[in-house]
Parts: sequence; structure tokens; C-alpha cells
Amino acid sequence: MLGAPGERHHRLIILGSGPAGLTAALYAARANLAPLVLEGTQPGGQLTITTDVENYPGFPRGIMGPELVDLMREQARRFGAKSRFETALRVELSRRPFTVESDVATYTCDALIVATGASAKTLGIASETHLLGYGVSACATCDGFFFRGKDVVVVGGGDTAVEEALFLTKFASKVTLVHRRDELRASKIMQERALKHEKIGFRWNSVVNEVLGTRDGGVTAVRLGDTRSGAESTFDTQGVFIAIGHQPNTAVFQGQLAMNAVGYLEVEEPTSRTSVDGVFAAGDVMDPHYRQAVTAAGTGCRAAIDAERWLEEHAGEHAPAATTARAGAAPAEATATAAAAEGAA
Ligand code: NAP
Repeated sequence: MLGAPGERHHRLIILGSGPAGLTAALYAARANLAPLVLEGTQPGGQLTITTDVENYPGFPRGIMGPELVDLMREQARRFGAKSRFETALRVELSRRPFTVESDVATYTCDALIVATGASAKTLGIASETHLLGYGVSACATCDGFFFRGKDVVVVGGGDTAVEEALFLTKFASKVTLVHRRDELRASKIMQERALKHEKIGFRWNSVVNEVLGTRDGGVTAVRLGDTRSGAESTFDTQGVFIAIGHQPNTAVFQGQLAMNAVGYLEVEEPTSRTSVDGVFAAGDVMDPHYRQAVTAAGTGCRAAIDAERWLEEHAGEHAPAATTARAGAAPAEATATAAAAEGAA
């Protein structure tokens, strides 16, 4: 038998609560799996640090990122998904049922969906945090539109930075790439495009020491430091895009799930199956390429369907339904369970 009886056992646990995790929760809940979502350190994921989301289908007038996440969560709960504001600190995936140890409790589950996302790397300066969403952004696709006719800075020298800079030329009047060295890390073809683009300028051997501005008035300038001489200068700009890479949130799966050299989970495309039978992955944690809310939601749907089919195939091996957490509960009853779980979290 895969599942151990007891209230801490769930047929399906989902780690992460961005569009991938919440879409997986919606589909799994509608398949009567009563999934438990452990929301993680940033409930709602990266959408919660963006402002207007104008490229998520179904919202012709746009929607605020946090509101979109709230609606997704509400929709998943309506069908019996439970979510708790807990973070998985340790997992044991070498035997079934799998064990998930959060900052609050220890759970077991028959199947697991990992949707822990990726976090944009930050410069680690206070002004960057203070002005995030007020002129500082980590996503040109999300926020570029708001910088029409303005001068912006992109920080970084890799493919992401160059891609963001090129994208921003559609809106901004001038894009300046600030890079800490005197050559780009980006692929040659991307470099060429950026280097010959009339709207893109470069500040080589430079780092952003401070972003100047206010939440009311937005960004007005950056204080740049020369990496060779240490000299500081002020550079006027109205927007700052940080593009120094993303870090997939996979530390707790090290040594247990196959991942690429930089930590993204590997899946058996076109499925969401990871290297461990019964563990599935969705969203930015397995996708270094697209990183959009809508693509994350799509992979969340895939993971839930894969998990449901996997659970069905292994049905005889699972714990009896009566001992597993709320499997098959009627929607109204399950919603009450969700509210109770929420209150307890
Ligand atoms: P990346 O290749 O790791 O580049 C990060 C850049 O940010 C580097 O230029 C690095 O400088 C700089 N950087 C890192 N930390 C910094 C800091 N604290 N302060 C200032 N600068 C800092 O990351 P990425 O550009 O996100 O790309 C990740 C992967 O995705 C790569 O394999 C890339 O090829 C791929 N990707 C591909 C595409 C595409 O093909 N269209 C698009 C996006 C990403 P140094 O150069 O000095 O280290």
C-alpha cells in the first residue's frame, strides 16, 4: 500500500501557489483528489510582485497580479482544494508514500506536484526592494508597456538582459544596458542584435549601487559604480529592469529529483513526470524559457492530469479512501474543510 492512514495523509500535495500550483489544484480538486496546497514563502508567486497583468487571457482591461492569484485560489477552493500558508522544508521522495515536512507539520502523500517556481535574482540593495513595482521591475514582458516613451535601464549581461532590452525598445525611447563587465555573456546572435540596435546604449563595467526615486514619483535616476575605479556617477532614467537571472526554487529537491546544471527540474516532455515516479513538476521550476503566468498555468493543468492518471493506475496500492484526507468529499463539504484548514494555518 502506498498511502499511510491518518489525517496527515493526502492523495496529492502541491507545493507552490503561483498560477502553476493553483491551476494544478483546480484541476485536481475537480477530479475529486482534494489536493493540499502548501503555498510556500511567497504565496501567489511572482504575480504578487507585479502590478497590472495585461497579458493573461480573459481580462481585457487587465487585472492586478495579486487579485488574479486570489481569484485562482478561490476557484480551486470552490472545488475542494485546501491551501495552507506553509513552506516545505524537507521532502523524502525515495519511498512511498512521499513525506513532506513543512515549517508547521509533516505530511505524507501518494503523489506530489512541484510548482515552487523561480525567483528573480535581485541586486540586494534596499532602494531596489523599496521601488519594486514603482519603476523597478524584474519582468519586461509584464511591465514594459508602462514605459512607453521613457528612458529605462536594464541591468545584466546575459540572454535575459539582452532579450528584455530588445523587448523594451518597442516602448521605451532609450534603453541602456548596465553590465558589470565589458563584454556580454549573452549568445552571439543576441549580442549582435543589441549592439547594433539604435535605441540600445551600454554602460560597461558598471553596477547599480542605488535606485533614486520615490513610490509617488517613480524612479528618477540610478547611482552607478564603476567596477574598475569605484567612482560613482548619477545616470538619469525612469525605469530599472533587473535581469540578472532567475533561480529555480529547487534547493529542497537536491539529490532527489533530476535537475539541469542550473537547478531547473527535468521532466519527460511532453509530460510533467520528473525522475521520480509519482512526482510531477509544473511552472517556472521546470521552465527556464517562457516563464509566463499563462504558460505556468498550462503546465499546472498538465501536471494535475498526469497525477490523476498516475493515481488511477496505482489505485490498488493507495490507502483506503476513508483514511485519506477528504478524497471524494462533496464540493460544499470540501469547501468547509478548506475554510477550516485556512483558519488553522
Ligand atoms: P545568466 O546567463 O546567468 O546571466 C546573468 C547576467 O547577470 C550575467 O551577465 C551576470 O554577469 C549578471 N549578473 C549576475 N549577478 C549580478 C549582480 N549581482 N549584479 C550585476 N550583474 C549580475 O542568466 P540569464 O540571462 O537569465 O540566462 C539564464 C539561462 O537562460 C542562460 O542559459 C540563457 O542562455 C538562457 N536564456 C536564453 C534565452 C534565449 O535563448 N532567448 C533567453 C533568456 C535566457 P556576468 O556576465 O559578469 O556573470
